[in-house]
Amino acid sequence: MRRIYQFFVISALVSVVLIGAGCVESSERYKAENYVGALSNADSDTSIVEGVYERPQITTPDEAWAELMRGNRRFVEGKRSVRDFPTRRGELVSGQHPFATVITCSDSRVVPEILFDQGLGDLFVIREAGYVADPITLGSVEYGVHHLHTPLLVVLGHSKCGAVTAAVEGGAEGNIEHIMDMIEPAVETTSESGVTGPELVEITVNAHVKNTIKEILEKSPVTKELVEKGELQIIGAKYYIDTGEVKVIE
Ligand SMILES: [Zn+2]
Repeated sequence: MRRIYQFFVISALVSVVLIGAGCVESSERYKAENYVGALSNADSDTSIVEGVYERPQITTPDEAWAELMRGNRRFVEGKRSVRDFPTRRGELVSGQHPFATVITCSDSRVVPEILFDQGLGDLFVIREAGYVADPITLGSVEYGVHHLHTPLLVVLGHSKCGAVTAAVEGGAEGNIEHIMDMIEPAVETTSESGVTGPELVEITVNAHVKNTIKEILEKSPVTKELVEKGELQIIGAKYYIDTGEVKVIE
């Protein structure tokens, strides 16, 4: 019994001495530093921007487009911004205020939040294979630009689009035909151009983006009104899946 008592006393004394000398604390810190160091080394090639990104206040179409272009530049250069997702999640519980509505393809290589380097609550995204202006897309656009008041609507096509390729080559089956029907007007404008092969797909993507914008303006009076009042700008753009760049379709 006496020996057990002595053991506890000695153990307690050793613990006090160790904690007092900072040995236990520094040992834990050492492990934590190793872990953080490992993460830093793994990410060092991608040149992560220091500090948590804070998006500037955006109220105009020009400011919105400039922010998207800055984000795309970061993405192209591999300098993705650091995001504090837990804090941002909390900020967004009471509501969302995205600064741009984006229509683009379901293609797994074309992810707006990534290629524009944006975070939670920044973009109102509508994705369907072939970025067509069907009634569901139109309703979603109206929610984004009218109810959420995004000052910018981007219709984002992309290079090597499978949906447009299928429309150019023909032969789609099942419900995919509905998508082909929506892309067909663009194919009609480019099929007589004399251009063939992959280049024909690329000019058809451009024509289809323009056609989707035309359809939105024709079939969504509320969207057209916002454009006429100068509260909304619509930009047709193209994402290049090889370079990562987004460029305006002239
Ligand atoms: Zn596509």
